Amino acid sequence: MENILVTGGAGFIGSHLCDKLIQDGNHVICLDNFFTGSHKNIEHLMDNKNFELIRHDIIEPIMLEVDKIYNLACPASPVHYQYNAIKTIKTNVVGVTNMLGLALRTNSRILQASTSEIYGNPIMHPQKEEYWGNVNPIGIRSCYDEGKRVAETLMMDYHRQNDVDIKIIRIFNTYGPRMAKNDGRVVSNFIIQALKNEDITIYGDGSQTRSFCYVDDLIRGMTSLMNSENFIGPVNVGNDGEYTVLELANMIIKLANSNSKIVFKPLPSDDPIRRKPDLSLAKEKLGYEPKIDIHDGLTKTIEYFSSIL
Ligand code: NAD
Ligand code: UDP
Repeated sequence: MENILVTGGAGFIGSHLCDKLIQDGNHVICLDNFFTGSHKNIEHLMDNKNFELIRHDIIEPIMLEVDKIYNLACPASPVHYQYNAIKTIKTNVVGVTNMLGLALRTNSRILQASTSEIYGNPIMHPQKEEYWGNVNPIGIRSCYDEGKRVAETLMMDYHRQNDVDIKIIRIFNTYGPRMAKNDGRVVSNFIIQALKNEDITIYGDGSQTRSFCYVDDLIRGMTSLMNSENFIGPVNVGNDGEYTVLELANMIIKLANSNSKIVFKPLPSDDPIRRKPDLSLAKEKLGYEPKIDIHDGLTKTIEYFSSIL
């Protein structure tokens, strides 16, 4: 049995990861400051003797004994990471340094949840890991995407300088049950609007693309990377089906049997025009392939939101 720390464990992805690690027979320490996470996401684990919850902010150092660290702590939705931009950068710089210090002291393996946002508004399409990105250093998304880029740099420098055992996963747009109602990202926004028969708010003309990964696929890719040998990444994990935001809106309206109308709102600045992962490295090194079709994944997510609304 391993003792595994999951920072951001009460969040959307983190809580699914806690479930999987407990199912696999590990002891899980879930650490969260509850900025965007919720007790509801982990409520079902509270009586499990292999689950421990710590309310803590990774910006402060912490002394723990662990075998592995999954560092997911960081708000992921533009609405939330822009709410306190300075705090977001600190989480990705000071927080990641603290977690790397913990990994160094305890000689534990650490996985960093990086993001497709490090590619910025990509000129290379689809995005391969070798691509260095096209990122605005002074824009409203910089606290997150530049923050996550520094986090990758810190991971690599602790690895080169102190031999810390690291893994870097670049996560592409992931959705599923337990996204917060006020999350503000496109899938949860559209589903909630569709279920309430309210207007679906498309930012821009809806021609921008994203590639959407169901959370179970992501968790499989993430745990495979953590348990792999002789491969540190960075590696893209997601789903390579590419859809325009308008196509997504129409799919959700249909699947939710909704009467919602589509309305167009201004496109936020620095919103990437297109995004799709090249998954060949994940396939080669981890045997990873997404399995859950977007219609099935959206249907499960719609069921979840109808049960909580
Ligand atoms: P989320 O907002 O649901 O989860 C983030 C969790 O981290 C929350 O529980 C929050 O309370 C906690 N947290 C935030 N700052 C913290 C701090 N300073 N100290 C302790 N806890 C803190 O988001 P998510 O979608 O589950 O994302 C999880 C991770 O995956 C994030 O690091 C995010 O950047 C990364 N990621 C997610 C996606 C996606 O599409 N969901 C894409 C790329 C990367
Ligand atoms: N988006 C939208 N309506 C919404 C929320 C988001 O049209 O209510 C758009 C957003 O402008 C972006 C895409 O959907 O082009 C994905 O946005 P999200 O915040 O989910 O993720 P990210 O931009 O970080 O990939």
